[in-house]
Amino acid sequence: MSTKKAFKAESKRLLEMMINSIYTHKEIFIRELISNASDAMDKLYFKSLNENLGLDRSDFHIRITLAKDARTLTISDNGIGMTQDELENNLGIIAQSGSLKFKEAMKSEENAPNSDEVSVIGQFGVGFYSAFMVAGKVTVKSKAFGSETAYLWSSEGVDGYTVEECEKDGHGTEITLYLKDDTEDEDYGEFLAEYKIRSLVKKYSDYIRYPIKMEVTHRHRKDDVPEDAPESEKYEEHTEDETLNSMIPIWKKNKNELKDEDYNNFYQEKFYDYTEPLTHIHSKTEGNATYSALLFIPKKAPYDYYSKEFEKGLQLYSNGVLIMDKCGDLLPDHFSFVKGLVDSEDLSLNISREMLQHDRQLKLIERSLERTIKNELKKMLNNEREKYEEFWKAFGLQLKFGVYNGYGMNKELLQDLLMFTSSKDKKPVTLEEYVTGMKEGQEFIYYASGESIERIDALPIVESVKDKGYEILYLTDNVDEFCLQMMTDYKEKKFKSVQGGDLDLETEEEKKELKEKNDGSKELCGAIKEALGDKVSAVRLTGKLKSHPVCITSDGALSVEMEKVLNSMPTDHKAKADKVLEINPDHPIFDKLQYLFDNDKEMLNTYSDLLYTQAMLIEGMTIEDPVAFSEELSKVMAK
Ligand code: ADP
Repeated sequence: MSTKKAFKAESKRLLEMMINSIYTHKEIFIRELISNASDAMDKLYFKSLNENLGLDRSDFHIRITLAKDARTLTISDNGIGMTQDELENNLGIIAQSGSLKFKEAMKSEENAPNSDEVSVIGQFGVGFYSAFMVAGKVTVKSKAFGSETAYLWSSEGVDGYTVEECEKDGHGTEITLYLKDDTEDEDYGEFLAEYKIRSLVKKYSDYIRYPIKMEVTHRHRKDDVPEDAPESEKYEEHTEDETLNSMIPIWKKNKNELKDEDYNNFYQEKFYDYTEPLTHIHSKTEGNATYSALLFIPKKAPYDYYSKEFEKGLQLYSNGVLIMDKCGDLLPDHFSFVKGLVDSEDLSLNISREMLQHDRQLKLIERSLERTIKNELKKMLNNEREKYEEFWKAFGLQLKFGVYNGYGMNKELLQDLLMFTSSKDKKPVTLEEYVTGMKEGQEFIYYASGESIERIDALPIVESVKDKGYEILYLTDNVDEFCLQMMTDYKEKKFKSVQGGDLDLETEEEKKELKEKNDGSKELCGAIKEALGDKVSAVRLTGKLKSHPVCITSDGALSVEMEKVLNSMPTDHKAKADKVLEINPDHPIFDKLQYLFDNDKEMLNTYSDLLYTQAMLIEGMTIEDPVAFSEELSKVMAK
C-alpha cells in the first residue's frame, strides 16, 4: 500500500472549489477529460513523427465506458500516458501561473464565474480537476509509452492522493470517475445514460479529431413474436460499438465540398432556428489572426433581439474544441445579429499564455470579422437587392443604432449599408442612390421625420418640397434622425430636415419679398409670440406653405420629432426643441390675425393658441391641455 500524499496548496484550493461545485455546467468535465485524452494522443503522434516510430494515426481512439451498477464512467485513451513522476506532477500540482491567474479572476469576479462557466475552466487549464464536480473518487491508470510499468493514481478529494503500481495493457491513460450519489438537487446518475453522454460528446467534442467510441445498446423488435406475446418478450437488445463524434468540423471542410443545404442544416441544428439563414459566410483567414469562421445571418430577428435580454456572441473553438459558447468579444454590437463560430489555433488553452495576449487575439479576430461581415453585406446589397432588403427589414435598425451609439465612429463602416424609404418610389434607397439622383445644384440630402410615411406625406412642408422636385427620405424609426445627425453628412452632402427652420428653398426674389413681409408684420408676430410664451422660440412668416395657414418648424439641432422621442424615455430632464410657428401670409387667416391685432387683442391670443395647437397636431404631437383647447375652440365658434 502506498502512502497518501497531500495536494499542493493551490491545487487543494482549486480542488475544493470543484468539489463544492461552483460551476453550474458540471457536464463540461467530459469535454475537459476528452480534450486531455486527445492532447495525449497528439503528443504521441507527434513523437512518432519526430522519432520515426511508425505509429498509425488511425489506431488512436478514445473510449467511454459506462458501468451503471458500479456507478462509474471511464474515459480511456491510447495516447502517450504518464510515468509515475508525471502522474504526481501533473495531477498533484497545478502549474503556478495557471492557478495564480485563476485566483485573480476569482477575486475580480467576486463570487466566482457563473456567467460563462464553459470558458473559465478551459482558460485556466484546470481541466482534470473538473472530474471532482461529479465524482467522489477518481482513479487514473496510466502507462507511459515505452514503459513497462503502469501506475494507478487515486484520490477521494482534498485529503490527498495515492500512487501505486498496477496492471494495464498497452500505453495510455484510463480515468475512472466514481459518480457521486444523487441528491435532491443534483442528478449525477444521468452521466451513466448513453443518450446523455452521446449528446454531450456531440455538443462539446464533436470535432475532436480522434474517434470517441462507446458501446451503445439498441432495442429491436423481434421478427417472429406473436402479437399477443407480453411486451417484454417482443424486443431484444444488442450492443454495437459506435463512434460518437463526427471528427471533421464543417468549417474545416473545403467550400466546394459543401452545398447550401449542408450549411443550412448545420445552422438550423446548431442554432435552433426553424428558418434557413439568409446567407452564410465561410472564411479562412491567415495573417495577424489565423482562424476559420462560419457565420450566418438569420432571416428574422429573434423575438428578444431588440431587448436587453439578447446576448450576442459567436461560439469559440480552439482547434476544434469548444471553449466558449457565446463569445461576445468577437462581434461588434452593430453586427450582433450574426450567428456562428470561430475556430482559431492561436487561442491556446495553455495556462502559460498571458491573458492579455489572449484578449489581443480576440480583438484582432473581431476586427477582421467586422470587415468580412461588412463586405458580405455590401456584396448582397449590390448583387441581391431583394435579399438585402429582407435583411434590412430584420436588422436595419441595429445598423442605425450602430452609427448612433458609436457617436459616428462607425460612420465609414456602416454608411453605405444604410437604407431609408424615399419619396420617389416609396422604396428603400441607399444614401449613395439618393446622392446620385440629386437635382442639379442640390446641396442637401432632405429628410422628414414622423410616425409613418403617410403621416409624413401629409405634412404641408413635405408637399411643397416635393413640388420643388426634391426627393425626401422618410424617417420613421425613432433612431433615424439621431443617426443622421451623428453622421452630419454623406459624401460631403449635409443632411437637412425639411421640418427645420432653415430650410431655405426660396429664390432670391422670394426671399426678398418674404423679408419685406416679415418686416411689415414684426409687431403682429411679436404679439403672437407673446401670446404663446415659451411654447415657441420665434414666430415668423413663411413662403413654404401653400394651402395651410401655419406649421411648426424648429431652429437648431433638436427637432420636434427628436424632442418627442427623447421625452418618451424615462428621464427627469425634459428635452425642448426651439419651435418656430411659421405663418402663411397668403392664407385668409393671416388677414384675420392682422384684424384681431388691430381690434381684439384677447381674441388674437386665443387664435394664436389654436393655430399653434393645430400645427402641433399636424406634426403628430399630442395636445398638452385638451380642455383648454376645446374651451378656446368653443369660444371662437360661439363668436
Ligand atoms: P491541462 O490539460 O490544461 O494542462 P489538466 O489539469 O487537465 O490541465 O491536466 C494536467 C496535465 O495532466 C496535462 O497537462 C497532461 O500533461 C496530463 N494529463 C491529463 N490527462 C492526461 C491523459 N489522458 N493522458 C496523458 N496526460 C494527461
